[in-house]
Amino acid sequence: MRVGGESLGVDVERVAVAREALGPSVLLMLDANEAYESDAGISAARAFAPYDIFWFEEPARWYEGASVWKRVANEGGIAIAGGEQAATRWEAADLVDSGAISFMEFDCMRTGGPSEWLKVAEICNRANIPMVPHHGPHIHVHLVSAASNGLLVEVFPDPAEYAPDDELEFTRWDRKLEMFSKYPKIVDGNMVLPETPGWGFELDDDAVGRLAVPNS
Ligand SMILES: [Mg+2]
Repeated sequence: MRVGGESLGVDVERVAVAREALGPSVLLMLDANEAYESDAGISAARAFAPYDIFWFEEPARWYEGASVWKRVANEGGIAIAGGEQAATRWEAADLVDSGAISFMEFDCMRTGGPSEWLKVAEICNRANIPMVPHHGPHIHVHLVSAASNGLLVEVFPDPAEYAPDDELEFTRWDRKLEMFSKYPKIVDGNMVLPETPGWGFELDDDAVGRLAVPNS
């Protein structure tokens, strides 16, 4: 659940409503996308902590450094997730060594590919940090399944929840799904690992041609 776009008071109300609707047994994670400056991140974490938050993701600005995330973790009372912006295993290792994060989100689709991701997974394994990669579940589901410290994959909202002209159009999952003629299924919150050779998805050439943005 995204936080940091509203005042803290409004966000706490939103989180409270979400927790009440979900009940106690569903994991709830918050993603600030680096919205807070350091002390504001700590205050926010303290305000969200009573709602049983599984992790608080990218709580503060990247340019303040991982030591600020560590302060949020130590003083805010919620485990921190991060690493979706890390470009290499060395950047990811710095994050691990800083002690700031409890969950690693390294994204093999941004940089590095599966080989780099698996190296990051091993670095994290030594520190008992689970892998929870950012987005790209049709790729990451294989890696999470291959790593002994793979925990879960991230999927953006179900298109059935949104009208076609919804303001969330940019992130609409069906716009992305439209590119595929074959795609792993999600059943009861679990992505089913394809039991076929290769990645288990196929691109729809017509849709790719229709959706492509001209590079000019
Ligand atoms: Mg994120």
